[in-house]
Amino acid sequence: MTNKTIEKLITQLLTELGEDPNREGLKKTPHRVATMFTELTKGYTTSRKQTVNDAIFNEHIHNMIVLKDVELYSLCEHHLLPFFGKCHIGYIPKDQIIGVSKIARIVDRFARRLQVQERLTQEIAQELQEVLNPYGVGVIIEAQHLCMMMRGVEKQNSTMITSSVLGTFREDQKTREEFMSFVSKAK
Ligand code: ZN
Repeated sequence: MTNKTIEKLITQLLTELGEDPNREGLKKTPHRVATMFTELTKGYTTSRKQTVNDAIFNEHIHNMIVLKDVELYSLCEHHLLPFFGKCHIGYIPKDQIIGVSKIARIVDRFARRLQVQERLTQEIAQELQEVLNPYGVGVIIEAQHLCMMMRGVEKQNSTMITSSVLGTFREDQKTREEFMSFVSKAK
């Protein structure tokens, strides 16, 4: 969908909401919203290659690597409202490590779509599994959902926690515990 098409739809939405799309404050709103949605959903058009950008290095490292507190912003596909929080990622490399900033880029590639938190968590874990072929991967997301905070049940302080574990993180309890201990030290 082009920006112009989205602009037209937003103008129509403003009218349907009982607003005057021609008043000063709203004149450029359709354009801004169209640009914003393009940005917030750019994960659909970003490829694995663009994201990882060859930043995979051969290293004989077989110890757990954890990146914690990666900020995350996504859009709930049920309400088109943001959910936001933190993502913690761990993996045990099998002779291949990835540039640390690329992990954050992978998070964004999947967060910048219409999502549910459960699927987002799993997609990030699977992507790391496919890109690095490690011994195992763990991903935890802690997030708050505006669709729950400002509408519906209006619960302001609930955090949803989801996890996805693959390989040794799934099979070996000690590995999972090691990951959890790193993540809980995050506070
Ligand atoms: Zn929602």
